[in-house]
Amino acid sequence: MIAGTIPFIPKPVVRRVARRYVAGATLDEALAVVAELNQSGCSATLDVLGEFIEREEQADTTRNDYIAALQGIAARKLDCNVSVKLTAFGLLLDLARTLERVRSVVTAAEQQRNFVRIDMEDSKCTSATIAVFRTLRTEGRANVGLVLQAYMKRTQADIDALADIKPSYRLCKGIYVEPADIAFKGLEPVRENYRHCLKHMFATGATRVGIATHDAKLVEDALGTLRNMNIARERYEFQMLLGVTEHLRARLVREGHPVRVYVPFGHDWYGYCTRRLKENPKIASHVAKALFGLGG
Ligand SMILES: Cc1cc2nc3c(=O)[nH]c(=O)nc-3n(C[C@H](O)[C@H](O)[C@H](O)COP(=O)(O)OP(=O)(O)OC[C@H]3O[C@@H](n4cnc5c(N)ncnc54)[C@H](O)[C@@H]3O)c2cc1C
Repeated sequence: MIAGTIPFIPKPVVRRVARRYVAGATLDEALAVVAELNQSGCSATLDVLGEFIEREEQADTTRNDYIAALQGIAARKLDCNVSVKLTAFGLLLDLARTLERVRSVVTAAEQQRNFVRIDMEDSKCTSATIAVFRTLRTEGRANVGLVLQAYMKRTQADIDALADIKPSYRLCKGIYVEPADIAFKGLEPVRENYRHCLKHMFATGATRVGIATHDAKLVEDALGTLRNMNIARERYEFQMLLGVTEHLRARLVREGHPVRVYVPFGHDWYGYCTRRLKENPKIASHVAKALFGLGG
């Protein structure tokens, strides 16, 4: 119900809510937020908003924006990498040109000893995204990582299939609405697969895993897994979205765990917020809470 009313929420109200989740419209604003996060003991990853593109030139702009972001990070000596969505690089238009564009971002990152994480989008992108990741790794580029989603039934098999290249992963639950024949549904089945996939990533030799969740129960279970499997600090980090469960984030930092915050920014902040809200009404309830001062 809330998701359906989003187009009618006045833009200034969406802006007020967005302020908590989006670092601003410009790179300078985003880098200022990253600097604050670094001071509070967190690293960060920058996401340039604007994944829905229709023309190749828009994909070129995405590439240029990311190269500028990497330059800004290096110039200010920030502890921050970048996260990319392949659809913004043209995945649904032309696979070869997408690969070329992402390759130039990964090369730019390499020159600055930085790292590029490939976000995972909806299920029509999964195989192509994994293929792009594998190609880049096979070319010898070590500074690129992949996101896998615990709600996808295929994820364990994907971890097996990628074990030979010992990936750097981020594991999240998954945010898109997927059909029940390919995705687990409901809190507990997704949590169960999350726990299983996390262990499986470490067991199959992943170089590093970003444990991306705000689910306090899963964070506790992950801490248990790290202890039981004796996982070194260099092989994991916790990851959370800007503005979400800051108390849990602060606790992990206090306890000495590496924590990275996902920082979206860009001129498309309004489109980003409204699309996310329409896609997943669960998030709309968080926005409603934020609107009424109950945000978690
Ligand atoms: C760093 C990071 C990167 C991600 N990258 C991807 C990706 O590449 N592909 C993808 O499909 N998904 C991605 N996601 C989203 C992820 O898949 C989940 O949809 C999202 O994190 C919510 O799941 P959860 O594990 O936090 O558990 P949930 O059960 O959804 O949330 C647990 C608790 O966290 C709080 N919470 C969660 N989200 C919010 C919010 N927006 N505002 C306020 N409180 C909130 C609530 O208190 C909630 O009860 C990413 C998430 C993170 C943290």
